[in-house]
Amino acid sequence: MDCIFCKIVRRELPSSIVYEDDLFMAFLDIHPTVKGHVLIMPKEHYPKLDETPEELVGSLFQLVARLAPVITHGAGAEGYNIGVNNGTVAGQVITHTHVHILPRRGDDNKSLWESSEYSPGELEQYWQVIKESVENNQDS
Ligand code: 5GP
Ligand code: ZN
Repeated sequence: MDCIFCKIVRRELPSSIVYEDDLFMAFLDIHPTVKGHVLIMPKEHYPKLDETPEELVGSLFQLVARLAPVITHGAGAEGYNIGVNNGTVAGQVITHTHVHILPRRGDDNKSLWESSEYSPGELEQYWQVIKESVENNQDS
């Protein structure tokens, strides 16, 4: 498979691995958003989070929850952001499911979230359509 992250799994490309088990691997992002930026991925290739089996996603996020504070502590940071870019419009570049762990420090001057405002009535519209979508998903 011609996928950079699969090549990392197979050791065909070098990477700075910080954790590995039968199912998952965690390694340093080569172009870090912040110092100590780590990626956690399933070893098996799935292009996107919503194409990854639900059970594996569950185990992936258990591992993320366990490792994020440990990575943060190791990197000498005080908090962390967890991120997934799912789909091209969301900035996903590598189509092999992975989660970003971003250790944060008070002086890192990063603004990852930019907020905006709803126009009048817009919040209610989004409330309605998202609620309907969630309810229909529960039915299926
Ligand atoms: P995405 O935008 O797909 O969620 O993020 C992919 C991430 O993978 C980027 O932050 C990028 O810096 C990182 N990356 C891309 N190629 C490599 C590589 O060959 N090795 C490592 N360690 N990270 C990579
Ligand atoms: Zn892959």
